[in-house]
Amino acid sequence: MKTTVSNGEIKRQNRIKVAKYILEHETVSRQEIAVALGFSMPTVFQNVKELIEWGLVCEGGEYGSTGGRKAKMLKIQKDFRYVVGAEISMHHIRLMLLDISWNILDLEYSRLTYENTQEYYVRLGEMIQNFVKRNKLDGKNSNKLIGVGISIPGIIDHDLGVLRESQALKAANVSMRHFTQNIPYDFYCDNDANNAAYAEIENQQKDTVYLSLSSTVGGAIYLGSELYKGDNFRSAEFGHMILVPQGRKCYCGKEGCLDSYCSSVALLESPEQSLKQFFEKLDGGDEECSRRWEEYLDYLALAVCNIRMIFDCDIILGGNVGGYMEGHIRAFESKVAKYNRSDLDTSYIRLGNYKEGSSAIGAAKHMVDKYISNLDKYIGN
Ligand SMILES: [Zn+2]
Repeated sequence: MKTTVSNGEIKRQNRIKVAKYILEHETVSRQEIAVALGFSMPTVFQNVKELIEWGLVCEGGEYGSTGGRKAKMLKIQKDFRYVVGAEISMHHIRLMLLDISWNILDLEYSRLTYENTQEYYVRLGEMIQNFVKRNKLDGKNSNKLIGVGISIPGIIDHDLGVLRESQALKAANVSMRHFTQNIPYDFYCDNDANNAAYAEIENQQKDTVYLSLSSTVGGAIYLGSELYKGDNFRSAEFGHMILVPQGRKCYCGKEGCLDSYCSSVALLESPEQSLKQFFEKLDGGDEECSRRWEEYLDYLALAVCNIRMIFDCDIILGGNVGGYMEGHIRAFESKVAKYNRSDLDTSYIRLGNYKEGSSAIGAAKHMVDKYISNLDKYIGN
C-alpha cells in the first residue's frame, strides 16, 4: 500500500534530524549539517533558525576562514532542558541530573531496599521528587525538566507493561505501573543492560554487542540501528550461555553458565569484599587475586570469542568489572586472539566510557531522544 507523507510531516522530520545531529556533535556548521544529512542549504538555514528561536540551539564563535564569509559554529544550548536518570537496584537508588549535553550536574546514591510494597513505591516517588526539588526544577521551572529515565534490572515485557522476572530484585510479574505511579513527570522505563548499552554505544548506526559485567552478566544487541529484543524480551542473555558443561551451579538453575564465571561475584574472595578492594589487592600483586583474575579473563575471552563468531561486530565490555579493565585490556586481547587465530585484529573489543551509572545515563538519553523526536509538540506550537 502506498503511503503519502504530508509536507508538514517531512518538515517536522527534517527538523528532528537537524536537532539530533547538532545534539550528537559538540560544534557543527550549517554546511556540515547540509552535507551530512543531504539537505539543501536553505532547508538547513530554515530549520536552524527555528531551533535557535526555540532556544535549543545557539551560535557560538566562528570557524577559521577559508576565504569568503566565516561559518558560524552551532551548538546545543545545554541548559535548555534537564533530565533525571534513575537506576534501581536491590538495596539502592542512584539518581543523576544531566543537562542535554550529558554533563552530570548532580548525583545521589541512597539506600532504598526493594520490596514489592506500596511503601517502597511511595518512597521511590518521594526520593525522585525531592531530588527534582533540590535542583529547583519544580514549580515555575518544571517546564525545564524533560522527565525521568528509569532503569530496572530484569526482564521487562513492554507489551504487557510487566516486570516478568528480576533475579536482582528477587521479584516476578510486577506491574511496571507500580514503579511509575508516584512519579509526577514524563518517564521512560527499560531494562538496565539495554539502558547501559544505549549510553555506551556512540554510533547507533553501527551494529554492536554490549556485554554487561556486573554482579550478574547480561547484555544488549544493536542491529540495524535498533535494539534486538527477541521473541520474549530475552535476547542477549549472555550470562546464561553454557560455557562449561556440568560446570558451576548458576542461580538460574543450570550448570556452567557464563554468569557463574564472569560476574563480579565470581571474582570476589568474600561477599564483604568490594570490587575496588579486589582490584587494589590485584594491583598490589596478591597471588590469590591474580589467580582469580586470570581465570576470569580466560572464561571471558572464550565468551567474547564466541560472541564475535556469531555477530562479527564491535563488542563493548561494560558494567562494574568493565570499569576496572583499562589497565588489563591488552592482556585480555591476547587471550582472545589465542582462541581465535583467524581474527588477530582485536580492535573490535572496546571498554565502556562510564565507570558507573551507565544505565541511569542511558535511560536519561532515551528520555531526551523521545523529547527531541516530539519537539514541535512540546515547544513548537
Ligand atoms: Zn545461568
